[in-house]
Amino acid sequence: MTDSHQQKMAAKKAVMDAKIAKATEERGILILMKGNGKGKSSSAFGTMARSLGHGKRAAVIQFLKGRTETGEYRFFKEHPMVDWHVMGEGFTWETQNKEQDIATAQKAWETARPYLSNPDYDLVILDEMSYMFKYHYLDVEPVVAALQQRPRLQNVIITGRTMATPLQEIADTISSVQDERHAFRLGVKAQAGIEF
Ligand code: ATP
Ligand code: MG
Repeated sequence: MTDSHQQKMAAKKAVMDAKIAKATEERGILILMKGNGKGKSSSAFGTMARSLGHGKRAAVIQFLKGRTETGEYRFFKEHPMVDWHVMGEGFTWETQNKEQDIATAQKAWETARPYLSNPDYDLVILDEMSYMFKYHYLDVEPVVAALQQRPRLQNVIITGRTMATPLQEIADTISSVQDERHAFRLGVKAQAGIEF
């Protein structure tokens, strides 16, 4: 190792140490996982595994029901520290019955809401919730209000391709997953364990 390398690393360490010394606040955060690339929901469930490893309690509310029972659902549903709700059954993309869709979205929100006022839950995942605002199935204001009034140490992750601006305004961490390439477009069939 050269001296100059050592000097560079020492300078880097000083900068990092100063940043760490500055970050002293202890509170839960709101994380948004957005963008067209693959990895938003799987990141949220990865974070949940991390959180469960520390003995923390979690709740998952899925606003859109996928095509099949997912691997993550099968894996986590029996976990004593996880509540998992798959909502969004009966969204009527084909028949475009807006009233029914609003009722479905409202039911999902009514399921999610109590968790945002329960300090026993350290992590709440609102999976694919962003679509509810995009299609105007839910008003964003009551959701913002509930998020702002949630228990101080509670962490929340919201996933979905496009995020409503009011959510972005109150979020602490926003990660955008970019779609640079996806195997599906190379003709690879969706696989159990990777896609669902
Ligand atoms: P994952 O659950 O794999 O983390 P995601 O939550 O980022 O994906 P969604 O928009 O929720 O992505 O889409 C869910 C499904 O679509 C998953 O099966 C995922 O692998 C697949 N998918 C995600 N992004 C793309 C893409 N850019 N092209 C094709 N399929 C995608
Ligand atoms: Mg997803």
